[in-house]
Amino acid sequence: MNTLSMQQRRERLFGPANPLFYEEPLHLVRGEGVWLFDADGGRFLDCYNNVPCVGHAHPRYVEAVCEQTRLLNTHTRYLHETILEYAERLLGKFDGSLDRLALACTGSEANDLAMRMARHHTGAEGFICTDATYHGNTTAVSQFSAIYEPVGGPSPNVRRVPHPDAYRAPDGVAPEQLADHYVEQVERAIRSLAESGDGLAAMIVCPIFANEGLPDTPAGYLQRVYALVCEAGGLLIADEVQAGFGRTGSWWGHEPSSIVPDIVTLGKPMAGGYPVAGLVTRGEILDAYRLREMYFNTFGGNPVACAAALAVLEILEREDLIGNATRVGQVIERGLEELQGQHECIGDVRGSGLFLGLDVVSDRNRRTPDEQTAAQIVNDVRRRGVLISKAGQHNNVLKIRPPLCFSESNASMLLEVLDASLASVASGA
Ligand code: PMP
Repeated sequence: MNTLSMQQRRERLFGPANPLFYEEPLHLVRGEGVWLFDADGGRFLDCYNNVPCVGHAHPRYVEAVCEQTRLLNTHTRYLHETILEYAERLLGKFDGSLDRLALACTGSEANDLAMRMARHHTGAEGFICTDATYHGNTTAVSQFSAIYEPVGGPSPNVRRVPHPDAYRAPDGVAPEQLADHYVEQVERAIRSLAESGDGLAAMIVCPIFANEGLPDTPAGYLQRVYALVCEAGGLLIADEVQAGFGRTGSWWGHEPSSIVPDIVTLGKPMAGGYPVAGLVTRGEILDAYRLREMYFNTFGGNPVACAAALAVLEILEREDLIGNATRVGQVIERGLEELQGQHECIGDVRGSGLFLGLDVVSDRNRRTPDEQTAAQIVNDVRRRGVLISKAGQHNNVLKIRPPLCFSESNASMLLEVLDASLASVASGA
């Protein structure tokens, strides 16, 4: 009753179409480590939230935020040691050529700013993104969204290319031709932007294609695309809002491909829940932009924001949470592969580190996406005390993305609950 009346109040206050997770929405009141607690004292294993990447209410993090809040929090036009220290420590995590940082509050703002810098640097107006992505909610960035209608309708200077997907490849394309196939689509988009006179300002990609459903990509795809984008005079924007800060077992999602993007955008886990986002790029790109166009962000990177972000960096390192993501991620992945052997509806297991996806299908041979069964599983495991969600072009990929302090015993619980739930959903119980 209580959650029902809260839902009604919510709708009255915020209007319709403000979706909540789960058929039985959660009223959470507290978090600790990988656990979330609801108002009735129920305990849930959090296998979804990447924002509190170091764990809910980490004592060192809480202390850093409280301490700085007690001292000072201002807008961003004063000198402050923590802000400088954070910038130096963060830039130290990237290739040396990426030596400038701009701070903002949301991933959307970071991508918006990246678009502006790309336009300014190249003098071109065209952008390329994938056909199943999401990069944020500003008017400009919404143009990339395949999940929601772009604000004001699709703009003629954006080309969508099919996202690379080794599991659900197009009919008639052999596995060894897959990379060529997808790279050709990018080539075509670049040609089309040249013909329309827009030219290529940038291609934006999440290096692990998180919103696309974490597809395995054909070898060499990102490197080849990057080479094409460079050749056309454009920039590559790597959106690390989901992939970054150790999620996949390396600091950045683009690292395994060995490319150095022109701009890297950051957000979500950056400050463990305090709204901090930003972009990292080369001096030549940022400096010229800054000298020409004013960019001011009242809250972006204020002293408390930077204290929170610095605490996240320190905890990631001190507790070796990136190593933990690799180790525990492998345990979960092996367990998921075993479940795949037992449950027909799991078509594919993929991902890396503590970001894993299960592709739910109604027909394994045809690889038919099954959004409805995926939704049933998400709701069923929630009733069993485990929180996951789903993503992907067909909204059928179970999304497992817990805080990075997830342990092997947490992994065992997740796998047991998933096993029971998959059996129950299959039997129609
Ligand atoms: N980029 C990616 C890849 C995202 O998944 C999201 C949000 N889901 C954003 C950008 C936008 O971030 P924010 O909601 O902080 O604006």
